[in-house]
Amino acid sequence: MKTINIAIDGPAGAGKSTIAKMVSKELGYIYVDTGALYRTIALYITENDIADEDIEASLEKADVSLKFIDGAQRVFLGDRDVSDLIRTPEISMAASRTSAIPAVRAYLFETQQKIARENSVIMDGRDIGTVVLPNADVKIFLTASAEERANRRYKELSEKPDCPTYQEILDDIIKRDYQDMHRETAPLKQAEDAVLVDTTELNLEESAAAIVKIINEKIG
Ligand code: C5P
Repeated sequence: MKTINIAIDGPAGAGKSTIAKMVSKELGYIYVDTGALYRTIALYITENDIADEDIEASLEKADVSLKFIDGAQRVFLGDRDVSDLIRTPEISMAASRTSAIPAVRAYLFETQQKIARENSVIMDGRDIGTVVLPNADVKIFLTASAEERANRRYKELSEKPDCPTYQEILDDIIKRDYQDMHRETAPLKQAEDAVLVDTTELNLEESAAAIVKIINEKIG
């Protein structure tokens, strides 16, 4: 059976995961958050205090896997579900740094391709349309201004203890964008055949509706 592959790329905080989840529910596809894989590798490297020069050799022991439980993606390190542990600002920054290492990207490449071969997916990340699924049926590049992305993240975090300031969040976003766009291997960039969706002025429902419309127009 032919599977349908939809690639959604874009910078941190553009709303990719929330919007991709809404779209995948509507279309009945599996949603794959590839950032969670990079975060899990970053957690593994951080927890085990692995030096940069030892990362490549240590990856074969990492045992990262994705499972879909009640339709939701969970990520595992060995048999430990680390889906919640990987959501800290420290791991965000570590993931941005370690994802630039070619051996890390090569290690996760096959995992991502295999999922897309076996399932109809909406896969989000930074290099899905350019590197992982260059033949995806539909490619979306989802973005919003850095200020609007920081604003959304601040609102999301402001209820939690130890919330960073708006400025700290904005600085983090700008730094991560820079790192993701300027690395040598698989930098964040819009694929030539991707459709640009800017959500600066759109709410979640409007953004999801815009993407569903693009998908329906492309694949009928
Ligand atoms: O999407 P998320 O913010 O969870 O991703 C964390 C980090 O993982 C990103 O800043 C990026 O450096 C990296 N990443 C990547 N390629 C992907 C997905 C995420 O390099 N396909």
